[in-house]
Amino acid sequence: MCGIVAYVGHRQAYPVILKGLKRLEYRGYDSAGIALLSDGLKLFKKKGKVAGLEDSLVGENVQGHIGIGHTRWATHGEPSDRNAHPHRSASGKLAMIHNGIIENYGQLKQELLNKGYSFTSDTDTEVLLHFIDDIRENNKCSLEEAIRIALKRVVGAYVIVIVDTESPDTLIAARKGSPLVIGIGKGEHFLASDASPIIEYTKEVVYVNDYELAIIRPDELILKNLGNETLTPFVQKLDLELAAIEKGGYEHFMLKEIFEQPHTIYDCLRGRLELSESKIIMSGVEQHLEQLKNAKRIIMVACGTSWHAGLVAEYIFEELCRVPVEVEYASEFRYRNPIVGPGDVIIAISQSGETADTLVAIEKAKEQGALIFGVLNVVGSSIARISHGGAYTHAGPEIGVASTKAFTAQLAVLTMIALKLGREKGTIDNDRYQRLLTELSLIPEKVQTVLEQAENINSLARKYAQATDFLFLGRGYNFPVALEGALKLKEISYIHAEGYPAAEMKHGPIALVDDTLPVVFVATKDPYHEKIVSNIQEIKARKGKVIAVISEGDETIPQMADDVMYVPACDEILAPMLNVIPLQLLSYYTGVHKGLDVDKPRNLAKSVTVE
Ligand code: GLU
Repeated sequence: MCGIVAYVGHRQAYPVILKGLKRLEYRGYDSAGIALLSDGLKLFKKKGKVAGLEDSLVGENVQGHIGIGHTRWATHGEPSDRNAHPHRSASGKLAMIHNGIIENYGQLKQELLNKGYSFTSDTDTEVLLHFIDDIRENNKCSLEEAIRIALKRVVGAYVIVIVDTESPDTLIAARKGSPLVIGIGKGEHFLASDASPIIEYTKEVVYVNDYELAIIRPDELILKNLGNETLTPFVQKLDLELAAIEKGGYEHFMLKEIFEQPHTIYDCLRGRLELSESKIIMSGVEQHLEQLKNAKRIIMVACGTSWHAGLVAEYIFEELCRVPVEVEYASEFRYRNPIVGPGDVIIAISQSGETADTLVAIEKAKEQGALIFGVLNVVGSSIARISHGGAYTHAGPEIGVASTKAFTAQLAVLTMIALKLGREKGTIDNDRYQRLLTELSLIPEKVQTVLEQAENINSLARKYAQATDFLFLGRGYNFPVALEGALKLKEISYIHAEGYPAAEMKHGPIALVDDTLPVVFVATKDPYHEKIVSNIQEIKARKGKVIAVISEGDETIPQMADDVMYVPACDEILAPMLNVIPLQLLSYYTGVHKGLDVDKPRNLAKSVTVE
């Protein structure tokens, strides 16, 4: 994880880097640090968020036209001032920031210790920096050459950016497995983990690829591979507006993103769902139609909330396309020697498109002959680039660490893919197809109706905010929604929560039920409605507190539940897109009532670019 920003050019580097780091804090906020080069190399580092670093620098000399900055998500060494980046080399000439993990750092560290190096931090990053410095000092080679030699020995993932007192107008950056974008301005260059720190200065960007090295000066960008061959940078135009990454009057990004969902789902359907022609147009699907239609098996590979979207999709694809579907945690799948090959389709689901485990999992499956289809939010991300094809979710930048709008957009995209394939395969009857298309087009306005109950959900959150545990239950399409509700609550409020299939609770979790345990049922009208009503009775008989998400017009459940949250009626296949909204709001308001930083929950980072 971690966010990196660097600048070289005619402006003062400090404000550019500071502002950029604030935009990247969703990637980590264990510590922040900046190195500036003007009269010598100055390093400023502090445990905690970027604002803390900023406060500590009031009155300091932060002049300089070249600099690097980092906001950390600790992997090696606790969050502390000493482990914060940038790190300084033993020669004192270099400062480096790093995003990723150097897996063989132990071995490299031992070699350096044997040579007499000492370390001021516990990080893998400092090891790599001393290693590079050592190669340069001993081989009397250029920094660029030393980096190339060092990186050939490195196992792991990285983006590194280095400043060097010997070349005070040059930044050197390299990438493998973590993201790096370079913004091209007039007489200036910007480097960052994503485009958000760059867009207000320039829309011309270059996405650096794995095993590439960039030498960047105010007027020059040289791109090379690790074999020292010069490459032609592929300059792209950013399709991103500044407003999309600001809070727009909301107290938190998470709340803004929850409230954006009518628009984001609409944007996701726009141009794809053609009601007048009863058609779904998705060029990514059309390009690989034969392979998708004839898939022997579909494997959804994802992590976290995206994995829950994959579970919903499993039910949808099996029902509408009559194809066997498996849903895999990418982190398990990649290490399991899975049986995958030609005829299999991997659907990789990821908001950021940078999720490290998902990335490696699909690389392996691709080597073994499977078709890789990405369902991603970030255009041009690493997973997008290695997939054979895919469909973007078009939800716009998601900054809140807990995913909300990306989840519903993933569901919308996956539903459309299933509808399109089901139609092509003839596994979905015409009436249902037409009905689902119409209902899908109505989801954005139904989401709006759910959002109108935000104040009721806020009161409900206040009522239960002191609970120490929650149980979330659902059946069928609502089971993954229950899992997602539990995950959201854990992430945002730090309340222990478990999601379970409602019927399965009798095999264990029911032992937890007493009069202090809130149990959230996702119990909208579907073919198993009566069954879940019985499950509610079972909880009530044991004095549990029942909070239920129910369909408008349901007169049964309000008689037995302690509290209810209503959603408009819709086909059960589409219901997760509506039913998750009250659970997102419940988590958000619970976190707020507990006085927590909902946009930056402890220990988490938005895009998990480490294993
Ligand atoms: N592995 C490095 C560290 O722990 C970098 C982590 C990051 O990407 O933030 O400091």
